[in-house]
Amino acid sequence: KGNIDFNNVTFGYENHSHVLKDINLNVRAGETLALVGPSGAGKSTLCSLIPRFYEIDDGSVTIDGIDIRSMKQQSLRNQIGIVQQDVFLFNGTIRENIAYGRLEASEEEIWDAARAAHLEAMIQALPDGLDTFIGERGLKLSGGQRQRLSIARIFLKNPPILILDEATSALDTETETMIQQALEKLAHNRTTLIIAHRLATIRHADRIVVVTEEGIAEQGRHEELIAAGG
Ligand code: ADP
Ligand code: ADP
Repeated sequence: KGNIDFNNVTFGYENHSHVLKDINLNVRAGETLALVGPSGAGKSTLCSLIPRFYEIDDGSVTIDGIDIRSMKQQSLRNQIGIVQQDVFLFNGTIRENIAYGRLEASEEEIWDAARAAHLEAMIQALPDGLDTFIGERGLKLSGGQRQRLSIARIFLKNPPILILDEATSALDTETETMIQQALEKLAHNRTTLIIAHRLATIRHADRIVVVTEEGIAEQGRHEELIAAGG
């Protein structure tokens, strides 16, 4: 589970010319795919079409052979975990933010997810632990803490597809390493992983796709692209 197909996909934002033109791309179930390329090429846009944040103009996107337009919003989003640069947190406790969408989760499951995302030490240092308020009403979290929290949320949800959209580009090295380790654990659980980044920082990718304004330029393994001088 977690096979994604872009079939002749064309998309432009409202009142703008097309960002993606006639894109064909297959992401195999369980593979780690890195999307690289210059800023503005359309990597983020490509990522956001999978959870259907926007409607495409032409072509189709399918998951396991099913057109995403024929899926219920909830069942589509249940299959996808997405980490973006700006993580969405709502006013509530750490516990509620981790268990978002899975409010029946047990204390043990929440702790397991927090541990996997390297959040344990931070939570233990807070006065009310998991029940500390965050968001506008409470504690301000750093960018790295917010991202690790959103990763904990994904561990709990355990979706077959995980998308990381420039997620670690604004972080310090230590936080980035922690996040990478957490992600490797997730990828190991046979998750389909799509990583979009300006630079090819991901060495564990099974395949690298270069996105440019002209479309998808090259595909190959990391070593092959390095050998080609890319
Ligand atoms: P990348 O992720 O490769 O940096 P993006 O997908 O963010 O590229 O952007 C592709 C193009 O779409 C850029 O020209 C960008 O300015 C434009 N774009 C991105 N988001 C929006 C939006 N919400 N509305 C209009 N244009 C957008
Ligand atoms: P869940 O999949 O857990 O039900 P959502 O689908 O509501 O959650 O949102 C998942 C993530 O996607 C959140 O970080 C949210 O901010 C982000 N998101 C939702 N809609 C959009 C959108 N149109 N553009 C960009 N990000 C979005």
